[in-house]
Amino acid sequence: MSDLERIDGRTKLIGLIATPIGHSLAPVMHNMAYRKMGLNFAYIAFEVGNDQLDDAVTGMRALNVGGFNVSMPNKTKILPLLDEISPEAEFIGAVNTVVNESGKLIGYNTDGIGYTRSLTEVDFNFVGKKMTLMGAGGAATAVAIQTALDGIAEISLFNRDISPYSKAIEIANIINEKTKCKVNVYKLEDLNKLKEEIAGSDILTNATGVGMKPLEGQSLVPDTSWLRPDLVVSDVIYNPRKTRLLEQAESAGCKTLNGLGMMLWAGSKSFELFTGYKMPVDYVKENLF
Ligand code: NAD
Repeated sequence: MSDLERIDGRTKLIGLIATPIGHSLAPVMHNMAYRKMGLNFAYIAFEVGNDQLDDAVTGMRALNVGGFNVSMPNKTKILPLLDEISPEAEFIGAVNTVVNESGKLIGYNTDGIGYTRSLTEVDFNFVGKKMTLMGAGGAATAVAIQTALDGIAEISLFNRDISPYSKAIEIANIINEKTKCKVNVYKLEDLNKLKEEIAGSDILTNATGVGMKPLEGQSLVPDTSWLRPDLVVSDVIYNPRKTRLLEQAESAGCKTLNGLGMMLWAGSKSFELFTGYKMPVDYVKENLF
């Protein structure tokens, strides 16, 4: 069914508020799935930063939209503007999906679930395993908290010795207090420690922006010999599809995955929250990637 046949006076609007927004794959992904399933929804991206956030949320309420995704820089700033926050979003301290449930705006976070679901695609079961995780921003927090909630045994969390280093300590405190997972925090500048922790880990994950523009071609692992074939290496970056770290990992014989799976499965969970239907993931994968 074309958009022309589908969109009418009853179409539910789903939005995305972020800046910059032009590169986002989300509008194409959601609209493609609505078309395929003949659902009367339309997904539109709005260039909204922190300064317009209050007005944008008021507008979403006034227009009675079905819901909206939230991306940088609004994921944490939106929390006080919502009526309810789901437990996982509260835990992560960030919202990426808002659903309008009969006039109430409820905030969820599907990033962590997106990441853990993407690991199943490379047949990696992280329960009881150890991860070295680089980064302490929004993506790293979602990865750390969701894997901890779902049974990873240990995380060695590395961040550079500037902001958000204190955030890394905060994440560790929350996880150590509320789950059975043990988190230790280290400085990315301590390369001997990084090498040692990677050597003792089952999975290495990059959740920093190192590897994408303007840091494309760069990797936080200075020596490919630190990687070994039984290490899974994942990068939350999906643009480029293959970061320098993933190139190194491939040459070392590791199983690798980029951030496309995380984005796809997080989007699929949001889709379900917005529409009540499962997203046709295989169809989207085939046509989008
Ligand atoms: P953020 O700004 O919240 O955090 C960025 C992190 O990168 C921080 O820990 C920061 O210290 C670190 N960092 C930045 N530059 C660095 C450098 N030169 N050396 C070492 N560390 C550095 O950003 P975020 O939202 O966490 O996003 C991080 C990455 O994750 C981005 O590339 C983003 O595109 C990606 N992401 C992917 C998905 C997905 O679905 N695949 C979802 C969210 C974010």
